[in-house]
Amino acid sequence: MPTATRTNPLSYLTTQLDELKAKGTYFRLRVLEDEQAAVCTFDGKKVINLASNNYLGLTTHPKLREAALEATRKYGVGSGAVRTIAGTMKIHMELEEKIARFKNVEACVVFQSGFTANAGTVSALLGKDDFIISDELNHASIIDGCRLSRAKILVFRHKDAAHAEEQLASVKDQPGRKLLITDGVFSMDGDIGPLPALCDAAEKYGAIMMVDDAHSSGVLGRNGRGTIDHFKVHGRVDIQVGTLSKAIGALGGYVCGSRDFIEFLYHRARPFLFSTAHPPSVAATCIAAFDVLEREPQLMEKLWENTHYFKKELGLLGFNIGGVTTPASETPITPIIIGDGKLTMEFSRELFKEGVLGTGIASPTVPEGKARIRTIMTATHTREQLDQALDVLKQVGKRMGILG
Ligand SMILES: *Cc1c(COP(=O)(O)O)cnc(C)c1O
Repeated sequence: MPTATRTNPLSYLTTQLDELKAKGTYFRLRVLEDEQAAVCTFDGKKVINLASNNYLGLTTHPKLREAALEATRKYGVGSGAVRTIAGTMKIHMELEEKIARFKNVEACVVFQSGFTANAGTVSALLGKDDFIISDELNHASIIDGCRLSRAKILVFRHKDAAHAEEQLASVKDQPGRKLLITDGVFSMDGDIGPLPALCDAAEKYGAIMMVDDAHSSGVLGRNGRGTIDHFKVHGRVDIQVGTLSKAIGALGGYVCGSRDFIEFLYHRARPFLFSTAHPPSVAATCIAAFDVLEREPQLMEKLWENTHYFKKELGLLGFNIGGVTTPASETPITPIIIGDGKLTMEFSRELFKEGVLGTGIASPTVPEGKARIRTIMTATHTREQLDQALDVLKQVGKRMGILG
């Protein structure tokens, strides 16, 4: 029986939250009250949204909305089981076949999220005698997958293929398997992994080559086929991961590769085996999204037009947008690097008051001293909205001493 004198064993968490408050990096969740769109209402305030991953505006695309509604009417709201027991519906198979055709690979498996796709794949593939050669800025889901696998992790300097090759060379006489892994586009900096050089290194040492294209699908390559297509390294990347949660507009992650590799994941990837399959509406939405990528290339064109404009103007204002001489980011993600976590969070709050949502991101999501506002362009921002956002960034940046 609980007694009044029972002490709270979770009180240490309150202490830790107090520490965050003292540091200035404590945050509240901002709550969206209408659709995820270029201009929308958070916490009762209408703002220009520079923070979503909704690159192509597909979260509210009429064809996707209709596909979700139709699938719900036809098949109900849930799948009722994990994929391996009774939860594989025809529409799940259709989606996987569609993605495999789009990516021009033998086979594809869809996971509940991009996070589980990475973590489930890496941990299923390797064991404690194996080696993972991983970019220092790879996504947290890759890092967790590496840890779960118990393989030895050799980190290489960001985008440094020569260092990756050194790491591979250092274990070339060890019997374990080697996996070389990189993000296609890095989520916090918006720069692109050096795929051709990494493929060379992987081939030289017989390593498995894996790329996480979460931020590149729908953004880079023909019709958004990702970095493999962008660099024309078809056939040289064994494992391609992507997400259905960003440009695709819904939810999920996928893994593409050879038929045997995908069949192996059916048998061994733990999120696939132990977590329920997507509702049919999500699968239907994603099928419609890939149709849109193929049939409405103007969305990607608009995304890039906005990206070039916004990045150029941000640089002209004098913000630190990464890189030394030229901007590091080559994609719709442009960081405004502030450095100090507390100042970054204050900057974000002031921007919000003036009608711009630019979320502050601090440690541990980015390294200490590299706190930033991460901006993301979409195809649905208008030039007027971008100009207005740039004006707010300039005014607030000057007022707070971030701009000279
Ligand atoms: C967002 C992201 C993921 C996770 O995808 P979700 O579908 O949101 O779980 C994985 N890898 C990278 C690089 C990401 O940016």
